[in-house]
Amino acid sequence: MHNPNQQNIEKHKAYFAHLKKKGVTTTSYSCPACDFSIETAANTTDSATDSAVTCPSCENLHLKVLLPNGGEIKISRI
Ligand SMILES: [Zn+2]
Repeated sequence: MHNPNQQNIEKHKAYFAHLKKKGVTTTSYSCPACDFSIETAANTTDSATDSAVTCPSCENLHLKVLLPNGGEIKISRI
């Protein structure tokens, strides 16, 4: 069991609080390794986006695909 990285978690929460204040729509999904609720900006475009993400809590690296127009979030382990 990893120790949650409290400092990264605080930074993660502060960043998304900042985005939401600016009117950005966010969504969240569970980390594939530790189930931490990872927040992300919603995909409001017409194309899927993908990115490699590090969990703020356990530092697991995974691939995140956001389907277009606020659709499903697909997570795969790398
Ligand atoms: Zn994690």
